[in-house]
Amino acid sequence: MKIAVAGAGAMGGRFGYALHQAGYDITFIDRWESHVRTIRAQGFRIHINGEDVVAHIPIFYPEELVQSGATFDVVILLTKSSQLDSMLRAIAPIVTRQDTYSLCLLNGIGHEKVIEQHIPRSNILLGNILWTAALVGAGHIKLENSGAVDLCELHPNGKATAQKMVEILEHAGLNATYSTDVYYTIYRKALLNCIMNTLCTILECNMHTTGTSEHLRPIMMGIIGEFAAVAAAEGVRFDSKQAIEGMELSSRLDGIGVHFPSTYQDLIVHNRLTEIDCLNGYIMERGHHHGIATPCCSMITQLIRCKEDILNAK
Ligand code: NAD
Repeated sequence: MKIAVAGAGAMGGRFGYALHQAGYDITFIDRWESHVRTIRAQGFRIHINGEDVVAHIPIFYPEELVQSGATFDVVILLTKSSQLDSMLRAIAPIVTRQDTYSLCLLNGIGHEKVIEQHIPRSNILLGNILWTAALVGAGHIKLENSGAVDLCELHPNGKATAQKMVEILEHAGLNATYSTDVYYTIYRKALLNCIMNTLCTILECNMHTTGTSEHLRPIMMGIIGEFAAVAAAEGVRFDSKQAIEGMELSSRLDGIGVHFPSTYQDLIVHNRLTEIDCLNGYIMERGHHHGIATPCCSMITQLIRCKEDILNAK
């Protein structure tokens, strides 16, 4: 199977590297010039679990691949959410082929609505990643810890490819599962992002610190309540008790509590726009659509947007 990874940043790098190591035919697609130049000249430098390795994996700008007429069986989409539409536009001749499937593994909710503007539902696979990855600089990523990924097809047409991709990702050591309820896991992961990522970014603290102030508890519980109401209206399974347990677990100092989440990394460290529209912003928008009040998610969305403006994030 020929696989392209569209978005060769931190997480695209992790998935592409694991698949390449397992012997699969991998091509990276990215538009970040110094990243592409460095990888072509020196290889992709990967610091993985304390060891430095260099991987030589082909990387192309979208236009180069389109011009070359390259085709792929599966394109794994791993841009940030605000970049998804422009990536799909840039590689349209590749992803709109009848026999090409696109697997979306971005964080957040609702990406299929963007993808469906470019690709028929019958060719879309959707998943959820529980791995982490960090971008150190151009051509250089850092990978630690273990994780998992689950995915499924959006239309019966994609079932065989979804199952094949699970097999391939599992063989590459990425702990893959074929999901029977992918929206459940997407909402579960997004909830944690909506609580921890946003509050750590607004308050400029790590996940453990959010658990040290009792004043945050009502806001966290408010977000969970809004998620539960919107999930019910959207027909998505949601378990509030499990959500509270997950939130408490993530602030433990003997767990991932020391971590500064990706929204913090994006905005505070790298001065980049966040994925808020696919997190609290999505719950706010769907709440509005269903006539459900979402005061906590709305306030957090506006505060993050305000912080993006003040910091002149790009
Ligand atoms: P990243 O910024 O490191 O990588 C995105 C890459 O896409 C960049 O290299 C960028 O140059 C490229 N890109 C964007 N638009 C493009 C376009 N139009 N044409 C060509 N290249 C383009 O981001 P990331 O951290 O790898 O995150 C990707 C997704 O994975 C996000 O949705 C994120 O939330 C999710 N995720 C990340 C982590 C993590 O730990 N990094 C964990 C779970 C989920």
